Amino acid sequence: MHLLIDEVQLWDGVGSPAQPKMSVEVRDGRIHWVGPASQWQGNRATVRVVEGRARTLIPGLMDCHVHYSSPGGPDWIARFTDPIPEISMRAVELAEASLRSGVTTARDVGAPQGVSIRLAHAARAGEIRAPNIRAAGTWIAHRGTYVSFARHFGEAGELRAAIKSEIEAGADLIKVALSGWNESTRQQAASEIPFDEKLLSVAVEEAHKSGFKIACHANDPTSCRIAARGGVDSLEHGMFLQADDLEAMVKNKTCLVPTMSVWDAMLCYARAVDWPETRKKRAEDLRKGSLAAVTAAVRAGVQIALGTDAGGGAARHGRIAREAELMVECGMEPRDALIAATSTAARLIGEDERGSIEEGKVADMVLLDADPLESIGALRLVAAVFQGGRHVA
Ligand SMILES: [Zn+2]
Repeated sequence: MHLLIDEVQLWDGVGSPAQPKMSVEVRDGRIHWVGPASQWQGNRATVRVVEGRARTLIPGLMDCHVHYSSPGGPDWIARFTDPIPEISMRAVELAEASLRSGVTTARDVGAPQGVSIRLAHAARAGEIRAPNIRAAGTWIAHRGTYVSFARHFGEAGELRAAIKSEIEAGADLIKVALSGWNESTRQQAASEIPFDEKLLSVAVEEAHKSGFKIACHANDPTSCRIAARGGVDSLEHGMFLQADDLEAMVKNKTCLVPTMSVWDAMLCYARAVDWPETRKKRAEDLRKGSLAAVTAAVRAGVQIALGTDAGGGAARHGRIAREAELMVECGMEPRDALIAATSTAARLIGEDERGSIEEGKVADMVLLDADPLESIGALRLVAAVFQGGRHVA
């Protein structure tokens, strides 16, 4: 498709201020030309012109932490054990909802029976309307921890075999879970953190040896400490990160994917649904902890990539704007929240050809009816989504 997005305010995703009255020409799925609208030399009769006046064009958004196998909401864990045909069909719908909200690339970091791998293939083949998906197959966790539908291991050899199996099954990245899912999943008799430093280094080595990135679920103080020092590519959640952990993350170039919206949503449902007081209190503490950790991470200079954990907790799909708003609440400039959702996310995911609006890049872009650099909530005002140059929403 040959497109001209005309006379738009353009934020290219690499940090320069937005430019007024720009045009972007798209050919064969790629960004062909970017420049002042007045300097475009083509013939308007031969292109599809998209009205850009009073609108802002930004790169397609990237959500580095989703689970399309669950819809989120107050009963998210139960939804993960729905029958696989139901999970699979729902995943297609949820991925489309995500795309409509401006997410053109997503990392699906864990699904029962590796459903996300099949979903990623269908998206890549153009069989479904979905973001470009990078899928971890199934979570890898130590036996006795985490959810029953994770891939469990006991010792180092079994851990290496589990990682190899995920790669053979078609995973794009490896996801390990250091700590439990929530308060109810750790067995009483299980030791505090069975996935220790040594085992994590085995996992990092095994994944990197095969050229795969490794994401690490860490949502209690000990697992945050271990993950920050383990050399993983990204630390997911991290609401108990301390100053020295953040320092270690900077040194190791480990990216933080904070998923604040998952605790924000949990608190919202804790109030809306009749949860026991202890669970409400826990939701409040986690929300507070996640905001404090991100505020400290920003000050410490930790790389932050946006991830919502939609589906993996109470957060629903299609609400990426909320995560960006929470980032701004933590002291990030709107521009930096957008960078977390575009160029930094692209680097973490390994998408060199996406994440910015530059000539030659894949034409994944979002057109908004207001300026998100002024007010980040403008991310809710999606006028159009372009994926590989196609107008998909
Ligand atoms: Zn998750």
